[in-house]
Amino acid sequence: MSKVLIIGVGGVGTVVAHKVAQNSDVFTDIVLASRTKSKCDKVAADIEKRLGVKVTTDSVDADSVDQLVALFKKHQPKLVINVALPYQDLTIMDACLACGVNYLDTANYEPKDVAHFEYSWQWAYKDKFEKAGLTAILGCGFDPGVSGVYTAYAAKHHFDEIHYLDIVDCNAGNHHKAFATNFNPEINIREITQKGRFYENGKWVETGALEIHKPLSYPNIGPKDSYLMYHEELESLVKNFPSIKRARFWMTFGQEYLTHLRVIQDIGMARIDEVEYNGMKIVPLQFLKAVLPNPQDLGENYEGETSIGCRIRGLKNGKEKTYYVYNNCSHHNAFLETGMQGVSYTTGVPAMIGAMMFLTGKWNKVGVYNVEEFDPDPFMEQLNKQGLPWHEVFDGDLEL
Ligand code: NDP
Repeated sequence: MSKVLIIGVGGVGTVVAHKVAQNSDVFTDIVLASRTKSKCDKVAADIEKRLGVKVTTDSVDADSVDQLVALFKKHQPKLVINVALPYQDLTIMDACLACGVNYLDTANYEPKDVAHFEYSWQWAYKDKFEKAGLTAILGCGFDPGVSGVYTAYAAKHHFDEIHYLDIVDCNAGNHHKAFATNFNPEINIREITQKGRFYENGKWVETGALEIHKPLSYPNIGPKDSYLMYHEELESLVKNFPSIKRARFWMTFGQEYLTHLRVIQDIGMARIDEVEYNGMKIVPLQFLKAVLPNPQDLGENYEGETSIGCRIRGLKNGKEKTYYVYNNCSHHNAFLETGMQGVSYTTGVPAMIGAMMFLTGKWNKVGVYNVEEFDPDPFMEQLNKQGLPWHEVFDGDLEL
């Protein structure tokens, strides 16, 4: 019996719920809980119709440890998959410790009042999880997530030393909206508008937001302008693979998207501090989220595909070699399978696989770990089976 509790039923949570239900030999009992129970009920009904699998639903405010503890005591899951927002990571980890439940998430903790991305808050739980005999798996989406597993796989099978790592993330899809974000708008805009940062020769180098960019060619897509930004997995990867001399993260953005983003910032709508409005306090970015298209509703007319991978240069048997491992994911196919678009799909599928790794005993160390600290092989095998097949290019031109 492996009971899993999914918290959060946005685009990513919906995909996780579908994929978990598709693998009901591993996940024998499924509970889906979020702030708004009616959204969980809708997804549960869709899953029962598509797959004939029953999903129990519940409501919880995951900002409250007391409510989480009550929820965990009621359902007694073996593992919680946290696909709510990064703000809830620590409260959910606290409740896991209080109730003896294992933990998995897809994004590092962020305090609400400052857009700051680092693992220190969650790594600080290592001793507590070890003492409790519990496992916490951090950052198990695509990036972070598969990007770390790809790197671990490259280190295990193809390199003696990884020297240069570039994670490249392209969304070449078209949702036919003037402006929309592909996952939670508040989290997405906080991430993109921060300063750029990359790792070189033991130091972090800061750049202006989206200041450095260059065209990179993506398989089956072609060249796309790609922007250097900070991304959280860089922090754990340079720690876990100390031979890395330089690590960077690149993401593609269209001109139309960037123009909208600039206007949003210029007029103050990206602010995350409170402002007075009609006698009440509102956070402009949270208000903006309420009027932007819901990422969950983008799937139906979404064309094109995503392409995310790792481009790596390093040494094997004393010789320099290059390696590129990537996945392309069709928005339309993701929609047909789960009702959600490709960005939610590429995040939700790896979260399910990480949970499967834990529940089947393949990833079973106690403590708090990033995904690259586990054996990549069984995870890579499941990526091919669960809808995110990967491809390799050896000794090609990395363009970087
Ligand atoms: P959404 O905003 O679509 O969904 C978030 C869900 O969490 C909603 O169901 C929301 O409920 C629920 N929620 C928010 N606050 C609370 C709370 N206090 N208590 C209980 N439930 C709450 O987000 P996404 O699905 O797009 O993203 C989910 C997570 O995935 C985010 O953390 C995001 O950063 C991460 N992500 C990771 C990626 C990766 O590759 N690693 C890529 C993309 C996303 P309600 O509907 O009531 O608001």
